[in-house]
Amino acid sequence: MAEFRASRRQADLLVKWGFDVRIPYCGMETAFRAEIGSGGPVFCVMSEYDALPEIGHACGHNLISVSALSAAAGVSELIKSGELPGTFVVLGSPGEEGKGGKIHLMNAGAFDGVGAAMMAHPGWRTATWKGCFGLERFEVEYVGKASHAGTAPEKGINALEGVMALFHGMNAWRQHLPEETRVHGIITDGGSAANVVPARAVARIYLRSGRQGVLDEMVVRFGEMVEGAALLSGTKVNLRSEHLGYKSGFPNEPLNREFFDAATELGMNPEMAEKQSRGSTDFGNVSRILPGSHVYFGISADGSRLSLHTEEFEKASRSEFAFNSALKAGEALASVACRYLSDETYRAEVAADFAK
Ligand SMILES: [Zn+2]
Ligand SMILES: [Zn+2]
Repeated sequence: MAEFRASRRQADLLVKWGFDVRIPYCGMETAFRAEIGSGGPVFCVMSEYDALPEIGHACGHNLISVSALSAAAGVSELIKSGELPGTFVVLGSPGEEGKGGKIHLMNAGAFDGVGAAMMAHPGWRTATWKGCFGLERFEVEYVGKASHAGTAPEKGINALEGVMALFHGMNAWRQHLPEETRVHGIITDGGSAANVVPARAVARIYLRSGRQGVLDEMVVRFGEMVEGAALLSGTKVNLRSEHLGYKSGFPNEPLNREFFDAATELGMNPEMAEKQSRGSTDFGNVSRILPGSHVYFGISADGSRLSLHTEEFEKASRSEFAFNSALKAGEALASVACRYLSDETYRAEVAADFAK
């Protein structure tokens, strides 16, 4: 969570627009809370701004902050002029790519009193949100004993065999997993020389599922497989959970619908999402404690299916087309916020859908 410049810059702008800003927030130097208005109802828009190692803004979080600030600029005017009741909050959540900024915010009570939360993420098209997969990440380290692979292999214990046995186990397991699951990983350490029996080998494995119960069962089975591979290879194993689990998310349909209508009016040609996102986000956890939606805005100028976390996406995320799309997404979020803050019947619908 090293987004010092990005968080500070947003905080400065929000202060300028009359927001009451707290930074650092909830014990995180790069988190912030900006609030305008008073009393209930409370609507929150989330900002993200972290980048990926090596490929930079290949997830376009630079644009998420643009959309959040675009929403903030509009809604704050209406609150200051007295046309809109309640409170509007911008939460700056650092470290989405693995560090779970929103989970820290949740645990510290940042969402207490918030009625609904939304955010807009760039994608190849503009769309509503059908929820997301839950994610658990692990680092598995097998420890054996080094030896000369040619002259004394019998004295070695091969840690790489542990990792390979684990991959074989996972490959066999995959066939029997329910639909809508993902198991994938890489080997980050497989030894240092071909003529030395590897004393240490490490893999990083991700498990995902659209159903939290399935994911919880997968974690248990995976743990058994990790142990099994250690027995098979005669190694010792250390299994570390790499982050706070990202839970599968629940979409709020009234929030989706309102965003869809606003985006349509703005000429964004939105689509209703037809299936859960196969990716995972710490917003999934947020959507389990209050009504939420993590909508998408299109940044593909020619309509081609850009994939997140690619060089193409990084390039698109700094285009003028993408910037304008983020501004519009912010307008659409502002429109949902206005409806939420001003319409009691709508708020009841949002709450009822969440209770379901
Ligand atoms: Zn990402
Ligand atoms: Zn992202």
